[in-house]
Amino acid sequence: MKPTAIVVGGGLGGLATALTLSTHYDVKIFEKNSWLGGKMQSIQLGEHTFDFGPNTLTMPRYFWDVLAPFVQPKEALPFQRVEQPTAHHFKDATITFTTDVAEMQRQIALIDPVSAENYPAFILEITRLFHLSEKAFLNKTFFNVKDYTKASLMKNLMAARPFQTLDAFLGHYFPNRKIRQLFNRFATYIGSSPYETPATFAMIAYFELVEGTYFLEGGPPNIAATFERVLREQGVKLHLNEPVLKFAMDGDTIRFCETEKGRYEADIFVSDMDYDVMQSLLGRKIPKRELSTSAYVELIALKEPVDLHHHNLLFSNDYVAEFKTLREGNYARKPSVYGCYPYASDSSRLPALFVLINAPANLYASQDGLVEQVDDALQKWGIKEEQIVERKALPPHYIADTFAVRQGAIYGQASNTWKGSFFRPSNHDLKLDNLYYVGGTVHPGGGSPIVVKGGYEVAKRIIQERQEV
Ligand SMILES: Cc1cc2nc3c(=O)[nH]c(=O)nc-3n(C[C@H](O)[C@H](O)[C@H](O)COP(=O)(O)OP(=O)(O)OC[C@H]3O[C@@H](n4cnc5c(N)ncnc54)[C@H](O)[C@@H]3O)c2cc1C
Repeated sequence: MKPTAIVVGGGLGGLATALTLSTHYDVKIFEKNSWLGGKMQSIQLGEHTFDFGPNTLTMPRYFWDVLAPFVQPKEALPFQRVEQPTAHHFKDATITFTTDVAEMQRQIALIDPVSAENYPAFILEITRLFHLSEKAFLNKTFFNVKDYTKASLMKNLMAARPFQTLDAFLGHYFPNRKIRQLFNRFATYIGSSPYETPATFAMIAYFELVEGTYFLEGGPPNIAATFERVLREQGVKLHLNEPVLKFAMDGDTIRFCETEKGRYEADIFVSDMDYDVMQSLLGRKIPKRELSTSAYVELIALKEPVDLHHHNLLFSNDYVAEFKTLREGNYARKPSVYGCYPYASDSSRLPALFVLINAPANLYASQDGLVEQVDDALQKWGIKEEQIVERKALPPHYIADTFAVRQGAIYGQASNTWKGSFFRPSNHDLKLDNLYYVGGTVHPGGGSPIVVKGGYEVAKRIIQERQEV
């Protein structure tokens, strides 16, 4: 008989862990909602389908690695490249991302020739930072104090620019404010401020600018659907609409978890929940910490196709003020606005726009004026009111309530200090021997490819180290 594992939370991190564990464990997943994929959620508004959560898909190989032991991964998840994925609009200029270095230089030169000249050196450095981060952090799990104090980790950490901010790092290559703003935006992928977060996170730019941006026909929730199909084939039991309410401990071990339907014992437990919410479920005090940003979202169903890229960004004029205000717990008065328009890549879908404004990790922040900011963005994108069928706002409360997330903070602890960035909650509970953590609020952090990679690595180490296997 195989040993048993319970995964609490069916987000991407939980699914990757469950699938990898399924070769050695009998696995059950408990999920509070009726679907798997967590924040990667398909939402219907009339006939229009929207993809909540991850819209910018990068690093397909991290998803394929998880599926490879079970199916032909590239057939199961046929990611396609988006050639010109993201249009960034300033008041008086537009830059559209591409992995073609010469084309990026051509566009940047129209704003600032010096920045254009330095672009290849920037690409070389973010490539170095990515490979270093992959070796030192992404391929590694953190289970105990020893993992954090290894000499090799310290050496790699020091080589990863931990004490320079992302903005200062970019300033080295790009004297022009607008060009820095383009790449400073990558800090928002971890819900943090480019003026505080370590330059190490410039490696996020590597995903899009070197390896590229992708889409899947039908939308990102097809990733979760594919994982679900393979999990079922592996015999993993899926308990949907069944939140875990309680854990029962015996010394340094969790004996069982409890739902409304019953008690479930297992040899090991893996939490894919928000780390702090899980701590409160364990009866522990939730620590004080600076939290990452949340999101104010509007779903906009369109009558007819419009002229937009797959990803569109309208930059605010004062990025410094925008992040300062967010860190103070308020919405920026004139925020940058992101719009995802999947129809640009996949015309089999009805035209629909997913609009996102960065929100503070403060569920009580005033949302006055946000609807007008979205109206203004729609106008700048050339969308008229008569082209809109229906629109719906999903404020940070939606994230907090639907996925049980502290203050709606998408990535848990903010990465606005080097400590907050490199000392995230670990993957193994320090007191309970059979409890593990995966997902965007623990090491190595959030973003769909990263949580999948994290879950995969944690499961592999559990299989390697646990004696019951
Ligand atoms: C608006 C938005 C936009 C984003 N954009 C991008 C993007 O463009 N690109 C990108 O890569 N990433 C993006 N992300 C981030 C990405 O979605 C997340 O980092 C990733 O999906 C998190 O996966 P997870 O497994 O950590 O957690 P989750 O997806 O939150 O899964 C955790 C699961 O646990 C369940 N749960 C909670 N409590 C319990 C309980 N007591 N019992 C049982 N189940 C429970 C929840 O219901 C949830 O399903 C975005 C996120 C949001 C919200």
